[in-house]
Amino acid sequence: MLETARYRIPPETSVDLFVHDPGAKTGFEGAKEDGKAALPELRRRLAELQRRLWAESKRSLLVVLQAMDTGGKDGTIRHVFSGVNPQGVHVRGFGVPSEWERAHDYLWRVHKHTPEDGAITIFNRSHYEDVLVVRVKGLAPEETWSKRYRHIREFERMLADEGTGIVKLYLHISKDEQRERLQARLDDPDKNWKFNNGDLTDRALWDDYQRAYEVALSETSTAYAPWYVIPANRKWYRNLVVSSILIETLEEMDLQYPQPDRPLQNLVIT
Ligand code: AMP
Ligand code: MG
Repeated sequence: MLETARYRIPPETSVDLFVHDPGAKTGFEGAKEDGKAALPELRRRLAELQRRLWAESKRSLLVVLQAMDTGGKDGTIRHVFSGVNPQGVHVRGFGVPSEWERAHDYLWRVHKHTPEDGAITIFNRSHYEDVLVVRVKGLAPEETWSKRYRHIREFERMLADEGTGIVKLYLHISKDEQRERLQARLDDPDKNWKFNNGDLTDRALWDDYQRAYEVALSETSTAYAPWYVIPANRKWYRNLVVSSILIETLEEMDLQYPQPDRPLQNLVIT
């Protein structure tokens, strides 16, 4: 399995995304085919760990996925989780908040969807949008969003204290890679539906978003809810890194199958 610690942001680190190479494939310098061939085994291990999590049913896992447009959030979910039992995995996407959602604090809509005991929940975008798009586009005053880093640390600490493992993944692509992926959405009729004019507005704000990500990662990577910066220009490598991180996170939880309340070995079904 890949060495993943290199992609983890230690607590209280000042993040400079420029030094994180979106095209990295460390540990898999050889053929792309070797990298692709390594995924099925990781899927198998992830499925086994999810079975334990589900059987134990005392703790849960929250996976936060963030990225610039075309960063590969949907593809990651599709490829990494294709082996797990769908019962016990939830995916929740967070788009522009509705009027009703905006009538509440920004954590209200996400808290409702945190995982129950035994489950894995994947957030496709998350409460982090409230310090990313909101900050970059000035959707709330600085006085409001600047306090949110602390709220988020405390919110996640509470979830962790109550038995939710948390892992946060920033899929890091380069601006050039985004250009190619957006262009592909225009050129391929089957991908047209994915294209959104808002993507161009956000692309024009690329540097501001990178800066907002740097601050968010610096302010909220903690021992109990670490951020990882995933090299995501190569989809196959991204899948390997994400799978490896999830496996490690679940392994560290030391999940146990429940013990039967009496010995079952000598029982025979008649
Ligand atoms: P997509 O993930 O492509 O379906 O797009 C969802 C859109 O919702 C993105 O443009 C996000 O920036 C936007 N969005 C998500 N959360 C918020 C939020 N809290 N406030 C404003 N926009 C948001
Ligand atoms: Mg979009």
